[in-house]
Amino acid sequence: MSALLDKGVPADEVLAQLRGMRGHDLPTHGGRLFAYVYDPALDGLDELAAAAHAMSAHVNGLDPTAFPSLLAMENDLVGAAARVLGGDERTVGSVTSGGTESLILAVKAARDGRPDIAAPRLVMPVTAHAALAKAAAYLRVALDTVPVDPITLRVDPAAVAAAITPDTVLVACSAPSYAHGLIDPVEPIAAAAAAAGVRCHVDACFGGWTLPYLRRLGEPVAPFDLSVPGVTSISVDLHKYAYAPKGVSVLLHRDERLRASQYFAYADWPGYTMINPVISSTRSGGPIAAAWATLRHIGDDGYLALAAATRDATKALAEAVAKIEDFAVVPRESTVVAFMSSGVDLFVLADELAARGWHTQPQFRHGDIPASVHLTVTAAVAPRVGEFEADLASAVDAARAHGPVQLPPGIFELLEAAPIEQVAGALGLGAGGALPERMAPVNALLDAAPPAVRERLLVAFLSLLQRPSPQQ
Ligand SMILES: *Cc1c(COP(=O)(O)O)cnc(C)c1O
Repeated sequence: MSALLDKGVPADEVLAQLRGMRGHDLPTHGGRLFAYVYDPALDGLDELAAAAHAMSAHVNGLDPTAFPSLLAMENDLVGAAARVLGGDERTVGSVTSGGTESLILAVKAARDGRPDIAAPRLVMPVTAHAALAKAAAYLRVALDTVPVDPITLRVDPAAVAAAITPDTVLVACSAPSYAHGLIDPVEPIAAAAAAAGVRCHVDACFGGWTLPYLRRLGEPVAPFDLSVPGVTSISVDLHKYAYAPKGVSVLLHRDERLRASQYFAYADWPGYTMINPVISSTRSGGPIAAAWATLRHIGDDGYLALAAATRDATKALAEAVAKIEDFAVVPRESTVVAFMSSGVDLFVLADELAARGWHTQPQFRHGDIPASVHLTVTAAVAPRVGEFEADLASAVDAARAHGPVQLPPGIFELLEAAPIEQVAGALGLGAGGALPERMAPVNALLDAAPPAVRERLLVAFLSLLQRPSPQQ
């Protein structure tokens, strides 16, 4: 297919085609997808968000004086995030397109806030989100990752403190980490950063909208937000647990002075004056309006109820997994269930679960940290727990019977020299990068490969997928 036809087709036909294509995607509703989507399963919410999105889709965030509705909604969202995340009257922030953009801007603000440092560095636990590594790479900030204990998966705050050098512009930590759902020791890390005169960013992209509610429900959530001395910025994705459609995150700074170096202004050209708070210049009002409508509709009481349902589902899922022989569940501190197994190939298990309609996220080993399976739990999962437990038991039996993946002999020698098409063939990837029925062989290979080889394979693989459609 091509997007551009010689002669356009009627709207209903276009939508029918789109519907057909969407039918091949993973299900975004129904509580069977444990990554990528966040579903509160609230009647009417999709319709509300879609209507708000449509109303503002053509509004341009480039110029807040031209479209004051967008400025007002952004200020409302930043104010709401400050309320949830321990802000005060000095707190300021920006609405961004997602967690990655919030993190790139946090790193940019820190880097450009220290023009005296020629070779800036970022310190973070190795469990911090890859988007921070991306930010460092984009901005040419050197990365100093601090290892975590391979059993507890926790970072020693003293090791973070020891990694700070005179060139460090930012210390980052997670509340919680995406992979395992664990909250870093924010208080001592932020104190160490402050003592060194360095900014400290808390990546609460994942859990920033649930942890405060979990605490109100009585869960023991350690302090992690702007109320912690030394925390200078914090990010929260509204397209995660605020249940807004994709494209909205908030980056908060402790005060206006800290935000100034995030902005980009340019007046030295003959066009319009450019002053951008975020990376994009032209940006749609659609996602912002949808998030604004979502927050106003769900309300504080609604988020508390959703957090309670999510907590109950997380707890029940963790208990179900922990019952299985040879399985270990990472202690539950948020809304993630992450588990390891000493007796079952987790990549085979993920395929068996997928065959039963459950989509989980396999995670590869890293250094001494074992491979695991990640489940992002949302409120929509709550009614599905019993069903999942039964299917998990049968998937585990099938995975035990199947045994671990055996990689094709000589695959690593092949990897050294072969063109990617040949590697893809050896792994059962079809022409154009079509995915095989079972992902376990691919995952096993990536798991066994060192990070640099993984990266090369991933780039080559995506490059095979991203090919223009034929002209017809
Ligand atoms: C999702 C996530 C990110 C990246 O956010 P995107 O919206 O995917 O760009 C960063 N940090 C954490 C902890 C996350 O969970």
